Amino acid sequence: MPTALIIGASRGIGRELVRQYLADGWRVLATARKSEDCAALGAMGAHPYQLDVASADSIAALGWNLDGELPDAAFLNAGVYGPRHDGFPTQDDFDTVMHTNVLAALRLLPVIAPMVAEARGKLAVISSRMASMGARSSASGTLYRASKAALNSVLVDTAIRFGPKGATCVAFHPGWVQTDMGGVDADITPAQSAAGLRATLAGLDPAANGAFLNYDGTPLPW
Ligand code: NDP
Repeated sequence: MPTALIIGASRGIGRELVRQYLADGWRVLATARKSEDCAALGAMGAHPYQLDVASADSIAALGWNLDGELPDAAFLNAGVYGPRHDGFPTQDDFDTVMHTNVLAALRLLPVIAPMVAEARGKLAVISSRMASMGARSSASGTLYRASKAALNSVLVDTAIRFGPKGATCVAFHPGWVQTDMGGVDADITPAQSAAGLRATLAGLDPAANGAFLNYDGTPLPW
């Protein structure tokens, strides 16, 4: 039975990834930062782990708890948007967005990527098309864009380090998705996004290592 690891699975796209992998008969390891969300993930049939991606201690504990696991598919999905205005960001805004979207990846990918490499599996970070500097037509969400661009850089270094060891590592745009972050007017449902992400990940070969892809597999410019 293949194993999926979903980091940030309490709601939205992450929770839907869990639901779909379970429905397909996968063994699913899923993280959430609140105990009640872990209980809900357990009730769905996943193996829950409590993880606040903004806590180094919490990440260290996850590493011990996952010791020996070999995920065939892993998604680093947890993320925050930050301020919706385009005014001056506060230090707190900066710290929250960069800590959650970037520092967490710097700490988590070295824990997860070796496990995925040993499984000769696939690892995805959920980035955003808003990170793209080659396909940018508006300047809203500057702090969020900067954080996801930095996440993309972390992903590329992870791909260079762990691709030769067996992990195929990519950054995904999940679409504009009807979640708490995407809002009700977004283009697609979490089910459509998760189905596309799963199918695209499953179809990747090692040559895709280090790519930036839309959820439907279309390449995106950095
Ligand atoms: P939601 O706001 O619905 O969910 C965000 C998820 O991230 C929640 O599970 C949340 O957990 C988790 N999270 C945030 N901070 C932490 C933390 N410190 N520790 C652990 N978990 C945390 O967003 P989406 O499902 O829409 O977004 C998922 C990913 O997709 C994000 O990375 C987002 O940037 C990206 N994305 C989304 C788009 C969209 O249109 N929706 C478009 C482009 C990218 P909790 O419930 O505990 O807060």
